Amino acid sequence: MSDDDHAALLSPVPDDDGAPFWQYAARGELRIQACADCGELRFPPRPCCPHCHSFASEWRRMSGRGRVWSYVVPHPPLLPAYAAQAPYNAIVVELAEAPRIRLVGNLVSGPGAPLNSAPVERIRIGARVQVVFAETDGVCVPRWILDRP
Ligand code: ZN
Repeated sequence: MSDDDHAALLSPVPDDDGAPFWQYAARGELRIQACADCGELRFPPRPCCPHCHSFASEWRRMSGRGRVWSYVVPHPPLLPAYAAQAPYNAIVVELAEAPRIRLVGNLVSGPGAPLNSAPVERIRIGARVQVVFAETDGVCVPRWILDRP
């Protein structure tokens, strides 16, 4: 492993079920898998609907709005790339369309801004957020900005 590998932030490794999520993210779209028969949204992506057991699915576009459901401010020891960005945050966002679906991400000050760009003291449970997308290691990941900074 090179020094560059040690300095990298971890990026997602898409699998077959989740690949569409990342393909839509690369287009700047937040889409969640839905059952094509009963219409229930489900996350994380998987082959079968837990409600009606159908294998038919579609990817429904979300508004990208949500609320901070929880958050943490990680403390050392951290991986080197994360230690360099501390203090930063990891937030859990409940989606406006489906509050029981929660995505883990980071609150940042703008689309290309670093993990530590949003002041930790500004984060509040329940704060309204909007998705943005940032490229890391060739994968576009959803991040979040405050609706009213
Ligand atoms: Zn279903």
